[in-house]
Amino acid sequence: MSFQLFGLPVSRGVAIGRAVLVSSSRIDVAHYFIPVTEVGAEISRLRVARDAVVAELTALQEDLPGDAPAELSALLDVHLMLLNDETLELATKQWIEERCYNAEWALSAQFEVLARQFDDMEDDYLRERKADIEQVVERLLRAMARGSPALVDAAAKPASALNEPLVLVANDIAPADMLHFKRTVFAGFVTDVGGTTSHTAIVARSLDIPAVVGAREGSRVIRQDDLVVIDGDAGLVIVNPSEIVLEEYRFRQRQRDVERQRLSRLRNTPAVTLDGEPVEMLANIELPGDAAAAVAAGAVGVGLFRSEFLFMNRAGELPGEEEQFEAYRSVVQAMNGMPVTIRTVDVGADKPLDRMSVSELRHEHALNPALGLRAIRWSLSEPAMFRQQIRAILRASAFGKVKLLVPMLAHVGEAKQTLDAIARAQQQLTDAGKPFGHVEVGAMIEVPAAALVLPSLLKLFDFVSLGTNDLIQYTLAIDRGDESVAHLYDPWHPAVLQLIESVIRQARKAGKAVSVCGEMAGDAAFTEVLLAMGLRSFSMHPSQIASVKQIILRANSKRLLPLIEGAFRSDDAWTGCERLRAAAAGRTLTELQPAS
Ligand code: PEP
Ligand code: MG
Repeated sequence: MSFQLFGLPVSRGVAIGRAVLVSSSRIDVAHYFIPVTEVGAEISRLRVARDAVVAELTALQEDLPGDAPAELSALLDVHLMLLNDETLELATKQWIEERCYNAEWALSAQFEVLARQFDDMEDDYLRERKADIEQVVERLLRAMARGSPALVDAAAKPASALNEPLVLVANDIAPADMLHFKRTVFAGFVTDVGGTTSHTAIVARSLDIPAVVGAREGSRVIRQDDLVVIDGDAGLVIVNPSEIVLEEYRFRQRQRDVERQRLSRLRNTPAVTLDGEPVEMLANIELPGDAAAAVAAGAVGVGLFRSEFLFMNRAGELPGEEEQFEAYRSVVQAMNGMPVTIRTVDVGADKPLDRMSVSELRHEHALNPALGLRAIRWSLSEPAMFRQQIRAILRASAFGKVKLLVPMLAHVGEAKQTLDAIARAQQQLTDAGKPFGHVEVGAMIEVPAAALVLPSLLKLFDFVSLGTNDLIQYTLAIDRGDESVAHLYDPWHPAVLQLIESVIRQARKAGKAVSVCGEMAGDAAFTEVLLAMGLRSFSMHPSQIASVKQIILRANSKRLLPLIEGAFRSDDAWTGCERLRAAAAGRTLTELQPAS
C-alpha cells in the first residue's frame, strides 16, 4: 500500500531505498553487507553465538541456588525456548542469505519485525513477551561482539549484493549515533522526532544525505523493507510509491546530480558580490576527517569545528590532552595554512556525551537541559577537563592559524573566567616549554543576553560568531529539537533578525570580525539578507558552500541595504520582516528595494 508522511525537511535531496527499521537503542549495531561467498560463514557466526548463549543460560540455570525465586528459573526457560525455537534463526538466516546483511544487522532487522508483531497483540501477557525476545537478541549481539571484536572496516565493505540503496527509519537518533552514519550504508533517514536545527539534523546536512525528521508515526507505520522515497526538500516521505512517482523522483535525483556538478565548478571562484565585496566562505566540521570535504568544497578556512563530537561515544572516558592535540593538529595541517576555528566543547542540551537520544533525554530529565549545565557552563564547572582542551587547542596553533571560540556565553563573568583559564593554560605551556602560536579568542553570540550586552563582550574578545540556531531557540523560547513546536521556530521573526543585525553592525563598528556559523549561514534563503546586514563571513557545511556562493556572486550588497534599514527602523518591524521573507522566497529582494 502506498502512503505519504509529512515531516520537516532537514537535509536536501532525494533518497530512494528499502527501509531498515532500527530502534534507537540499536543504531550502533554494525550494518554492512557481506560478500555472497561469505553467507555460509556469517550464518555460522550466528549459530556459534546462539550455541554460546544457550550454554551460558544452561550453566546459569544449573547453578541457580535452591532458594532462587521460581520466576527466575521460568524466565531462563523461556529464553532457552526462544533460542532453541527455529523461527528466530530461520528468519534471521533469510536476511543474511537474501540481503547479504551481516549477522548482527540481520538479527536486529528480524527483531524489529517480531517487535511489531508483539506490539499488535491484543493479549497483555503475550505483548509483554517482546521484552524476552529483546533480551535474547541482546545476549546474541553481545556474544557476536565477543566472537568478532574488530568490526569490518566500512571502506572495505562490498557494495550491496542487491545493489539497492537503504534508508534508515527510527524513532530518534542520538547525535552521537549520527557519527555511525559516516560508517554505514544508508542513503538517507527518517525519524519520528526532531526539529530542523536539532543536532541530528545538522549532522545529516554535514553528511549531505537527504533526511526528514519529525515524521511522527514514521517508525510505526513504515515496515521493514518497504520501498521509501525521502524528499529532503519538501519534508515528504513516500512509502511504496507508484511507478510514476518513483520515476519522477529518479528524474529529480538525476537533475540534482547535474546541478551539483555545475555548482562544483564554482569551487575555486572567489566569493565576491557584484559590487566587489569579498565574502569569506568558511566550513563547519564535526570531526577531523571532515576537513578534507571543507578543502574540496573550496572553503577558505574552518569557521566552526564542533569539538564536542570528539567527546561522544566514549563510555564516559573523555579524550585527554594528547588525543585532542592530535585531532586539532590534523585539522590545522589538512587546512594547509587556512584558519581553523575550534569551538570549546559544547555538550549538554540535545548533545549528551553518551548515546542518549533527545527523547530519552527528555524522558529521563524532566527539567529543560537546554537551560542547564551546557557548553561553557559545563566547561567552567570541569576546570581540569577545560584546561586540557585549551592546552590542546593552543598547542595545535604551532602548526597553523588557530582561533578559539567559546560557546553560549551569557555573562561577562563567564567570559573573564574563560580568558583567565586560557592565560593559565598559556603559562603552563610556556613553563613546560611546549610551543604555541598566537590564538585569537572569539565569543559565540547565541543567547539574547550576549547580543544585548555585546559592547562589553567586544571589549574582551577578538571576534564574534553568531550561533543562530541557539539564538533563535533562546529568543523565541522554542526548543530547537522539538517537532511539536517546530512551526514556531522562525528565523524570520523580527526579534531574531533585529538581534542578528545589531550584532553585525556593532561588531563591524568596533572593528571586530563577525561571522554567522548557525544553519542560517548555509541557507540560501538568507544569503542576501545577511549580506545586506553587512555580514562578510559565512560558515556552513561544506556541501552548502557552492549554492550560497552562487547567490553571493549575483548579489549587490549595497542596493539591499536600504530595504533592511526600512524593515528595522520602521515602527512596524513585523510587516518589514514579512516583506523580507516574501521577497527572499521569490528571490526578488533586489527588485523590491525602494527607488532611491
Ligand atoms: C548555533 O547554535 O547556531 C551553533 C552554531 O551551535 P550548535 O548548532 O552546535 O549549537
Ligand atoms: Mg549553539
